[in-house]
Amino acid sequence: MNKTILHMDMDAFFASIEQRDNLELRGKPVIVGREDSNRGIVTTASYEARKYGVHSAMSIFKARRLCPHGIFVDGNYEKYSKASKKIFEICRNFTPKVYPISIDEAFLDVSGSIPYFKSAKEIAVKLQEKIKDELFLTCSIGIAPNKMLAKIASDMQKPAGITIINKDNLDEFLKELPVEKIPGIGKKTAEKLKNLGIFTAKNIEDKSETLLIKHFGKFGKQLYYMGQGKEIPSATSLDERKKQKAKSISNEITFYQSSSDRNYLQQQLIKIANKVCYRLRLKNATAKKISLKVKFSDLTVKTLDRTLQNDICYEADVYRMVTELFRRIDLKNNKIRLLGIKLAALEFSDEVKQLDLFKEKKEKVTRISQAVDKIRNKYGRKIISIGKNENNKS
Ligand SMILES: [Mg+2]
Repeated sequence: MNKTILHMDMDAFFASIEQRDNLELRGKPVIVGREDSNRGIVTTASYEARKYGVHSAMSIFKARRLCPHGIFVDGNYEKYSKASKKIFEICRNFTPKVYPISIDEAFLDVSGSIPYFKSAKEIAVKLQEKIKDELFLTCSIGIAPNKMLAKIASDMQKPAGITIINKDNLDEFLKELPVEKIPGIGKKTAEKLKNLGIFTAKNIEDKSETLLIKHFGKFGKQLYYMGQGKEIPSATSLDERKKQKAKSISNEITFYQSSSDRNYLQQQLIKIANKVCYRLRLKNATAKKISLKVKFSDLTVKTLDRTLQNDICYEADVYRMVTELFRRIDLKNNKIRLLGIKLAALEFSDEVKQLDLFKEKKEKVTRISQAVDKIRNKYGRKIISIGKNENNKS
């Protein structure tokens, strides 16, 4: 069966939440990220701030220079992660196959849901409406036969856009797609591609796989597929993944200068959480244990961990847990040199599990949209794993 994938990406997520909750910030260049520290980074810039060249991951120092009248906001990550959770719940009203890839974006495999809506576009429109109605926030959506194209598409008409790539317009789309827009191609690779006469995705198609591998190694193979608008078919089966499964996934950041700035450190934890969650989901795994590693400026190390009742794989959950652990670290008398997050007690599955979303708020089950019920009726209860949670409880 041909797949239909939606990529849902919230528009200027953190900044939009700040503008939503504070009238005075609306229509103004809002930059989320702490201002009083030169090491601070921009986590999100509102569209008004982007006009000045400010973008996420830029240093606050640079952002201030580009946009001196910008309004710098500390950011409330607990609030963002709550909103994120809510958004992914809404996504699950349209398909049980929701794969979050960061706090504000997710892939939705809607292949099985289309018969219950007029079309994939209808799903996208309804999803945008529901997010707008419930959270007063906008998102952009790309619709395509695979994840890579869907992700490229969602970025084409931001904010609040819907971009569809199907077999009728794929060729045209690839012809006009600059290589820089392809995920995984940075400035350097783009430069190299241009030297080979490759400026658009379509140009890749004329080149042989051998030539691309010769110039780009392993990535060349991926490029070859990208030129045809395809993803490399996944070669690793569940069995193989089980064989090579990791016992844990971790990531850490060492700071050039030790810090006791809680907000800055919290931002770094978000970056680390993003990385570990992404790697976790690449392996189609969930984790049951989370640890926070802290190295102080005197080089002593403290590790705090927690074993969870339910498996987790989403950033929102990792932020929440790690923030709780981090609160126990005394910053008044200590400076921190390194932060790390480790996810352990991993469980591997073919599909990322639908997690215990409904455990906390059972009443929500009754509010699940008709669409989900319809899917459930057609494919049986098992396809929607909230059924499983209900069983567990009874
Ligand atoms: Mg976004």
